[in-house]
Amino acid sequence: MNSKQVNFSKFSSIKIGDILDVTLLKNCKDFVKDSYLIGSCNNILIGTQPPPLIKLDKKYDYIKIENNQLKIGGATPSGKIASFCKKNNLTNFEFLSHLPGTLGGLVFMNAGLKEYEIFNNLISIKTCNGIKQKDEIEFGYRFTNISTPILEASFNLEYGFKQNKIELFKKMRANQPKNPSAGSCFKNPLGDYAGRLIESVGLKGRRVGGMEFSSIHANFLVNVDNGKFDDAIFLIQEAQKKVYEKFNIWLECEIVILDKRYLGDKSPLLKP
Ligand SMILES: Cc1cc2nc3c(=O)[nH]c(=O)nc-3n(C[C@H](O)[C@H](O)[C@H](O)COP(=O)(O)OP(=O)(O)OC[C@H]3O[C@@H](n4cnc5c(N)ncnc54)[C@H](O)[C@@H]3O)c2cc1C
Repeated sequence: MNSKQVNFSKFSSIKIGDILDVTLLKNCKDFVKDSYLIGSCNNILIGTQPPPLIKLDKKYDYIKIENNQLKIGGATPSGKIASFCKKNNLTNFEFLSHLPGTLGGLVFMNAGLKEYEIFNNLISIKTCNGIKQKDEIEFGYRFTNISTPILEASFNLEYGFKQNKIELFKKMRANQPKNPSAGSCFKNPLGDYAGRLIESVGLKGRRVGGMEFSSIHANFLVNVDNGKFDDAIFLIQEAQKKVYEKFNIWLECEIVILDKRYLGDKSPLLKP
């Protein structure tokens, strides 16, 4: 089995983490139980006690048109997908020009911008547990019930790339901070906005160590000055506690925290 060393303070979008060994998944039999699959770490906060990590090999970085479908490998970056669609005059993927990630991470998170979500045009996924049709998968806002590595996804083909949508997505991004982050820190609770709630409890602009709830958009936990994992966790917990006390709403993390102390059910500090 191959592995490689990854410096997470450079690789992850939030610029936090040590230099760690990451196993490369070439075949599903390489998947080690209890290890955690990462994509390009645009939605992940790596802790100081991470689980064993695994990443798709670059053989899963491809995009092609086959049998009148768009077939994309799990390790393919969003920028490559957006460029391919522009070059081949395909529509429905314009939003990926402003959404960082790999196909596997995008599908697992059902990533999107407003009503444009990756599941909108999905047909099926190829996983380590075989092929799953869209109607066999539960999905919703930044949620799917997929529990196995996504190796490839197939999408409907629709021609007519729309440059005006690229401009629209660029505008949507204009109110977001430029500092390193992992995107939105919390999911928006039903009928409300995490950013509004964080601001209402006085945490917009709150800084601990090198981490801050951005003064530009409170739901972005940004790394302003060599921020550390503990600073990030402190702020996440402070926001959850204060928002719960004031509004009786539990802010659920959109960021995936990869640390043995906070994974799955072993996260007493992150639940009421
Ligand atoms: C500045 C910024 C803005 C962002 N804006 C948005 C936004 O507007 N909308 C939005 O939805 N997201 C946004 N994000 C979050 C991020 O872009 C998405 O969550 C993206 O899907 C992450 O992809 P990734 O490959 O980096 O996945 P990672 O961050 O590496 O992983 C995320 C999750 O996906 C799982 N995963 C990764 N690859 C696979 C695979 N092959 N098979 C199964 N599971 C896998 C991981 O286990 C993990 O649970 C933003 C992030 C940043 C940094």
